[in-house]
Amino acid sequence: MTTSPSTNAPLLQIRGLHAYYGQSHVLHGVNIQVHAGETVSLLGRNGAGKTTLLRSIMGAHVRREGEIRFRDVDLLSLPMHRIPRLGIGYVPEERGIFSSLNVSENLMLPPSFHEGGLSVEEIYHLFPNLKGRGNTSGTRLSGGEQQMLAIGRVLRTGARFILLDEPTEGLAPVVVEEIALAIGELKRKGFTVLLVEQNFDVAAAVSDRFYVLEKGRVVDELRSEELSSRRASLEQALGV
Ligand code: ATP
Repeated sequence: MTTSPSTNAPLLQIRGLHAYYGQSHVLHGVNIQVHAGETVSLLGRNGAGKTTLLRSIMGAHVRREGEIRFRDVDLLSLPMHRIPRLGIGYVPEERGIFSSLNVSENLMLPPSFHEGGLSVEEIYHLFPNLKGRGNTSGTRLSGGEQQMLAIGRVLRTGARFILLDEPTEGLAPVVVEEIALAIGELKRKGFTVLLVEQNFDVAAAVSDRFYVLEKGRVVDELRSEELSSRRASLEQALGV
């Protein structure tokens, strides 16, 4: 039986989140919700705090105050290494491919933190460009292939809630399209995705809902159905 996501308790609930780098106060009382199976995009200009919001969920590099609950777990009370065990996977903007390892090794290296990790064959199905490249070292992959590998590696861990930070940044249009198709495929497979994406067309194509951040605050929230009527003002706000 399928139920509307909006009738269920959110998978991720963030309330009144403040985040700091040292003395620098970057998030100012952020509230967001993500329901199981949704793809939600964080939009905003450079420096708005999108990456900081993802890092806050992972407990990485940033001091947090407020509430972040995943299912019924209070993430602020957990050490960073416990977060992946909840089935949360983070693909940072810098991708973090092990350049001295080949594609297969990069895929085989991550531990399985949670049941339901994709097999290597399933990852090759999702990213056909990686198929047959198993012996290619990380350094010899294109930017797009590295991005695919970084996402694939996280999917191996059993993560079902995936945080993607600007997965299409700097990639050629044809590769951007492949990444967008893969995100759509993850949604069809029941994954939940929280996406930071500067490419508005990609965000628009894959997302159910959007939050707009400005200077560390959520200033707007909309659903995909509202996108066409709001697009002009949104693009102006985002400077795209
Ligand atoms: P971008 O697209 O530029 O990455 P963003 O919306 O993801 O933008 P963040 O990277 O979250 O923005 O940055 C929010 C603010 O925090 C910016 O003012 C940024 O300069 C600052 N910031 C980010 N990382 C650090 C850090 N490690 N130490 C201190 N300040 C930081």
